[in-house]
Order: sequence, then structure tokens, then C-alpha cells
Amino acid sequence: MNSQGKLILPLLVALLSVVVLSTGCGPKAETIAQKVVQPVNPEHFIADSLVEPIKKEIRTLSDGSRAECYVITTRSVPSDHTIGPWVPKHVTDGEDKGGIWIKDGHVYNVSGEFIAHLDELYDDPEWNLVREDGSIKVTDTKEAFDLAARPNVDPRYHNHAVECPPDVVEWKSNHNVYVIPVNPAYRSVVTDFRKVGDGHGPVGVAFNGVKYDPPAPIHAIIKAHTIAPFDHSGGHVNPHAGYHYHAATGNTKEIEQPDGHAPMIGYALDGFGIYAHLDQDGKEPVDLDECSGHYDDVRGYHYHASPAGDNQIIAAFRGIAGSANVVKPE
Ligand SMILES: [Zn+2]
Ligand SMILES: [Zn+2]
Repeated sequence: MNSQGKLILPLLVALLSVVVLSTGCGPKAETIAQKVVQPVNPEHFIADSLVEPIKKEIRTLSDGSRAECYVITTRSVPSDHTIGPWVPKHVTDGEDKGGIWIKDGHVYNVSGEFIAHLDELYDDPEWNLVREDGSIKVTDTKEAFDLAARPNVDPRYHNHAVECPPDVVEWKSNHNVYVIPVNPAYRSVVTDFRKVGDGHGPVGVAFNGVKYDPPAPIHAIIKAHTIAPFDHSGGHVNPHAGYHYHAATGNTKEIEQPDGHAPMIGYALDGFGIYAHLDQDGKEPVDLDECSGHYDDVRGYHYHASPAGDNQIIAAFRGIAGSANVVKPE
């Protein structure tokens, strides 16, 4: 398939067949018929990550419309990789004791030395996360974690590295419940994540049941002279949401594409597939729209995860999002 064909086809489809399926809350929200629409495939999810079999039910989507959805209930902890480490505990600890941190599109390995030189990285002498004895100031109690792992970091925990202490395990028994439309709807309008649900929900889910979250509030985090590293799988823990990803780093289940396209890594909450950034030849996706998606005749409309350093999995919803909740089991 030549790339011109890929470009022209969705335009033709869009022009020839505009179908109004749902008025939603905005007057111009139209669903545009697509030649190829791939329904969500529940078999892509890892069985060990599921709390119960995936159900198909009629549910209400984020715009108020009703649609056939998959209800996917997963464990909080991924079944296909370990979580952590995040923060080294001493300035002499190497990269193997920490995760990653991102700045201006770059991914840095978080070693003790990295933490000791944050003042240089940010060109700000107020960074001071290392004590005189070489130990690193880290949120090592539940209270410290609760007060620091939020956008308005408590002043007592400024100049700390933030991670979930290993003995804080309450979140691990929670479940994630995702409601995702079976058939994604390509819409004429783009939906900002912050306009969906309470505005803090995930943008999608990996095949291991872990949430793909919107961008981490890095500006607020570093303003308090804190960092909240991700592990090498792109995830960290927050007291309310549990473990979630801010980057796709290739450590989760991937579904290879026979045509060399980037592998599939999960679903967005609107039912469109999410694929890795690079294809099998290491090439970047082309002609992505403002949501980080594009169309081809094999996959239909789909998203590509941004590079790990971009603090973004996808940019916005092209379809009508379902919902996601963290629930405590009975
Ligand atoms: Zn986060
Ligand atoms: Zn693609």
C-alpha cells in the first residue's frame, strides 16, 4: 500500500459519508463512517491480568450516549513485568537502583549521581535531594508519600524524590474497571481528556490491565523541587490511582503486525487501538492528527504512543470515551 492511498482514502470516506449518530453535548459532534473499523478484541488482554472474564454490556459513554461496551476488570499490578525500582537511596547507587525521569523530550536513567546533579539539569541551585551522609531524601513513609505524590506537594516534602514505599500496599488489592465501546466511533470533533469524567481518568489501558494516564504534572512536581521517577516500564504509583503509565517503553505485551507496522500495545478508552511509536524498521509514524492517530486500511483509525520522553501516551480522544474506575473489591 502506498502512503498516498492511505492519506486520500480516509478523506474520501469522510466527505462521502457523514453519519450523525449522536449529538452528544456539542452541536457539531458527528460520527464519520470509516471504511475499516476494528472492533476491540477482548482476547488481546492477558488472562492473568483479569479479575473476571470480560463482559459485553450496553453502557453509557462519556457523552451520554449508550453503546455496546466491554467491561474489563483487571488487577492493579501488571502480570507481565515487575514494578519499580524508582528512586536510588544513596548517591553512590547506580542506574539499576532507579527508574527514569524525563525532561524536554529526553529520557534520563535515575542514578544517585543523576539525583545529585538535578541543580545542574534544571540550572537551579535550590535542588538539594542529597543529605550530607550521601543518603537521598525519599518519601519513605505512607504519610510522606500521600503528602508528596500530588500536584500541590506539601512544603515539608519539597526537595524529595517521590516513590511509593514498599510497605504501602493498599492500592495493590484494588481493581481497575474499564468500560470501552466495542466499536470505536471516529468523530468530527476531538475530545480533551480533561473534559471526560472527573478530568483525571486514564486515556487507555495496556493489555496487562495497567492504565495509560494523561501527562504527569511535571511542571508542578519540579516546581516543588521534587521528582517522581517512572520505572523502566514507564509507570509509578499514586495513592489514589495505583500503578499507572506515563510512557510506553516496550515492556508490556505487544502484538506484532505482519505488515511491519508498529506493534499494538493497548486500547484507548474510546476503543481505538494504541500502537507503539516505532515500526519494525525503527521508523516513526507519519501524518498523525492532533490526537496522535491516523488511518490505514488494515487497522482503521488508531493511535501511536508518543516517544517516552514526551510525557504523553496519546494527545486526545478521536472517539467517544467510555470510563475507567479504581474499585475496592468487596
Ligand atoms: Zn503519575
Ligand atoms: Zn499507524
